[in-house]
Amino acid sequence: MTHIVILGSGFGALTAVRQLRKSGVDADITLVSPKRQLTYLPSLIWMPSGMRKGSDLEIDLGNFFNRQKVTWHQGSVTNVTDGGRTVETDNGTLTNDYLIIATGSRFIKKLPGIKENAIIPCEGVASGQQIADRLNEMDGGTIAIGFGTNPKEPGAVRGGPMFEFLFGIDTLLRRQGRRDKFDMVFFNGAPKPGIRLGEKAVAGLLAEMARRDIKTYLGAKPTRIEADKVVTEREEFAADLVLMMPGLTGPLWLDNTELPRSEGGFIRADEKCRVEGWPQTYVVGDTGSYPGPDWLAKQAHQADLQAEAAAKNIADEIKGQAPGHNFKSELVCIVDTLNSGILVYRSDKRSLTLPQLKISHWAKRTFENIYLRPYR
Ligand SMILES: Cc1cc2nc3c(=O)[nH]c(=O)nc-3n(C[C@H](O)[C@H](O)[C@H](O)COP(=O)(O)OP(=O)(O)OC[C@H]3O[C@@H](n4cnc5c(N)ncnc54)[C@H](O)[C@@H]3O)c2cc1C
Repeated sequence: MTHIVILGSGFGALTAVRQLRKSGVDADITLVSPKRQLTYLPSLIWMPSGMRKGSDLEIDLGNFFNRQKVTWHQGSVTNVTDGGRTVETDNGTLTNDYLIIATGSRFIKKLPGIKENAIIPCEGVASGQQIADRLNEMDGGTIAIGFGTNPKEPGAVRGGPMFEFLFGIDTLLRRQGRRDKFDMVFFNGAPKPGIRLGEKAVAGLLAEMARRDIKTYLGAKPTRIEADKVVTEREEFAADLVLMMPGLTGPLWLDNTELPRSEGGFIRADEKCRVEGWPQTYVVGDTGSYPGPDWLAKQAHQADLQAEAAAKNIADEIKGQAPGHNFKSELVCIVDTLNSGILVYRSDKRSLTLPQLKISHWAKRTFENIYLRPYR
């Protein structure tokens, strides 16, 4: 029996499982991850307000694995050798005929003071809870929110959620009747933060900040974060609570391997998600660096599209055919504000930004429910 090994249990990995089965692949599938769960990261933005708890967002995958006939191997991959055919984990070694790598990305925590004086709000449910707790404790002060990028791979950025934390916290404080006790600040090294979303979207986001009385510090990179302030290469400003999302790079375990790496530290792949020069080895989602438009995003939706292509290509290979599926490049994002949302869409053919609408907030909530159904 053909043996497929999948590394990770996030968006890309699980979509790959579903697509393999949908394509009629009857192979043994082993999935390796440290925990038997999916963390639904997009809804972390609703934790500061209490609209979601950690337990809502960590989905146990036991039933899903049974239904899909997946063997779950608890562990963390430490190396991939033998041209991809051997996977070493901290809990034993596995061999495979086909490998899909989907272990996400890692934050670059080089900015002085970031570990001690800022919350990196996208590391999982613990950071979502930490923000909720800090907001509850605070009687007032300045909340500063920003994001950075990977200078060697500018696409390795996670900006969308930071706009959502910004607008969501503003809405929450207004709802609680204490917005007047807080100053809110948005900072970014780029003059046009989030430009991947398109010019129109950035203009709309900055106008929304102005409308909400959120002060901006743009076009000067932060150089350090201290206990009570953020220092940039141009100026400094007071901050009692800092939420900062640094740029992304490849996971640490890649350093042990001979896998081909991009400038920014990700696994180099082609438009079919094949790892360059490593037959029968695929990479999907945030772990990879792919050809595509300059707005190609590191987001769950793109991870899903890449996973679909990789799984279809493996199905082709098992049938003795050449892999025939390129992944689709598409950016879909709803920047949520806790009671409304701004929808941004980009593809090769179309670019669309809708104004702030209540229905977009509800669409995001409905999507979460529908998306998680197969995994529950
Ligand atoms: C707050 C927030 C909001 C977001 N909002 C959106 C949104 O609205 N829309 C959107 O499309 N995207 C959104 N994203 C981005 C999205 O979550 C990521 O792009 C997506 O999770 C990437 O999927 P992935 O499969 O590549 O990696 P992940 O989902 O990160 O999964 C990685 C998996 O690998 C496992 N793993 C890690 N190391 C190892 C190892 N050594 N061995 C084995 N397994 C390992 C992890 O445990 C995990 O299961 C958001 C992200 C955050 C943080």
